Amino acid sequence: MKTWQRYREYLLRGEWHVHTNYTDGKNTVEELCNVAERRRIPLIAFTEHVRKNLKYNFEDLLEDIDRAREEHPSLIILSGIEAKVLPDGTLDVSDEIIKSVDYPIFAYHSFPNDVEQYMRTLERVIKENPFINAWAHPGLFLLKRGLPSSAIEIEHILKLMKERNVLLELNHKYNLPFRDWIERAEQLGVTLVCGDDIHSISNFARFQECMNVRVVRE
Ligand SMILES: [Zn+2]
Ligand SMILES: [Zn+2]
Repeated sequence: MKTWQRYREYLLRGEWHVHTNYTDGKNTVEELCNVAERRRIPLIAFTEHVRKNLKYNFEDLLEDIDRAREEHPSLIILSGIEAKVLPDGTLDVSDEIIKSVDYPIFAYHSFPNDVEQYMRTLERVIKENPFINAWAHPGLFLLKRGLPSSAIEIEHILKLMKERNVLLELNHKYNLPFRDWIERAEQLGVTLVCGDDIHSISNFARFQECMNVRVVRE
């Protein structure tokens, strides 16, 4: 059972991808929760960047989240991480940290320019990490490098995601995933989640777009 399955009704109404000033975000946990509450967003997930060798105190972040839960009893606040896929298909995060949060997600950032390796590692990440809840900004790596993807390979990955209950993130910062990936995902019954890669309180305006997508879908 993945954490998201307990919060199904908030998948497209919550904000499931948020960074704080512990890494490259501009605002504190408390500031972000205040804005979420003001905008009547029912759920916020803090998916902070991590490495195996962390440069900040993860315990402090978890304490901030606990404090925010006390301050905002009507807001669902999830702890999380965004772990980078390494070239061998493992994740750049310690076991201890991935197990300590509610909502771990994975993403491609720096990675070799090799579509075959990308597909191979995607499969490995989804199969070997029972705690992983979602694929963040799907396709961003291919988009940035101008690399092609084959529909057959993507279909294979989407089927695996469906089988392992891994969410496909709808990310409005990058307008991803690609339209045809979303259509295929919906046909295959892959579950979508709204995560806009929020890095400051002003980014919450994007959330409106997500709501619009939801209205269209309903
Ligand atoms: Zn990212
Ligand atoms: Zn992010």
